Amino acid sequence: MAAKSFLLLALILSVVIDPSRFSPQNESNHATPNPPIIGRSIDTSQNEDNNSAAHNFDVQKLAEGVYAVVRKEPAGFMVDANNVFIINDDYVVVVDSNGAPSITKEVLAALRKLTSAPVKYVINTHWHDDHIRGNQVYRETFPGVEFIGHHTMREYLPAQGAINRKQFLEGAPQFLDILKSALAKNKSLTGAELSPEERISHTSDVRLAELVLSEGAAAQTILPTITVTDRLTLSRGDRVIDVMHLGAGHTAADIVVHLPKERILITGDLVVWPIPLVGDPQSHIGEWPATLEKLIALSPNTIVPGHGPVLHDVSYLKTLAAMFASISRQTRAAVSKGETLEQTRKSVNLEGFQKQLAGDSPVRRLLFSNYVFSPGVAAGFREASEK
Ligand SMILES: [Zn+2]
Repeated sequence: MAAKSFLLLALILSVVIDPSRFSPQNESNHATPNPPIIGRSIDTSQNEDNNSAAHNFDVQKLAEGVYAVVRKEPAGFMVDANNVFIINDDYVVVVDSNGAPSITKEVLAALRKLTSAPVKYVINTHWHDDHIRGNQVYRETFPGVEFIGHHTMREYLPAQGAINRKQFLEGAPQFLDILKSALAKNKSLTGAELSPEERISHTSDVRLAELVLSEGAAAQTILPTITVTDRLTLSRGDRVIDVMHLGAGHTAADIVVHLPKERILITGDLVVWPIPLVGDPQSHIGEWPATLEKLIALSPNTIVPGHGPVLHDVSYLKTLAAMFASISRQTRAAVSKGETLEQTRKSVNLEGFQKQLAGDSPVRRLLFSNYVFSPGVAAGFREASEK
């Protein structure tokens, strides 16, 4: 079968989308996993124009003064980042901005319904555009705001980050054409009839991609003004906010935000539900399990992933750690036997993890193939070959 590959530009992960790797296996015994328990939602539209239904997020109270902004877009190639508001007496800390300034303006409007205090710190959990492109909205609104990020972001973003953004903007129209054509012809990327789930997912992808295309070229890159190498603690009254780099995983710049008293952990894309986001060469498959183990060791009660609903236990983190360890182990074994990358792609078996994470969902299986299997094997192979 001719490989119909195209660049997926969604997350600037250098992932190559290859629908030919997606082979539906009509197994009906593996139901799609249930979504995790989702926290309480609050309606921030009260007293206002009641238009929150138009927004693609829920605002959920996690603890006194701590709110998660959880995206409602379906799983897809294009996603936008969750945010967290930590509201202290006299200022606010926001974790992550969004993929387009107009989205961040909606998020900021939701914050305004909770407090009039200014945003003093924006913490960017890593360098991907869907977590930083809205930074400029905070700078325009709060001129004194500081941006906190891993120290490598200051070198990465003007160099490789700028290249990735350019490639995204150049390649996105082709990506959009493919999705629009699939929607118009009612054919999935594998040629089968489009399922309702795929239609919802691709429609959301198109909406987000068009938004990013229309705003992305003009979006400024705002670098961290305060950098973290290992740890930074913000204390105010009773509130303690630990900003920590516990190791690489999704990228080399991953930082997590931990509220030890409230036992809330904000993970960035070290944890993404329902299908994790792996990039090659950006992700560190070999190191990722140990980083996740450090997250688990914090014993959080409430986990806000980079994308996906709020989680209330660490079981999903354990699954991800086991899967990345398995990819690393299998690719190392393949390299030690002298296999090529193509041979390794055939010998690595992740079916059990695919069933566990994707079940029978065509969208999740496609995402697993393109965001876990393909880049994960490439990253593991590269890491094993470098040693
Ligand atoms: Zn990311």
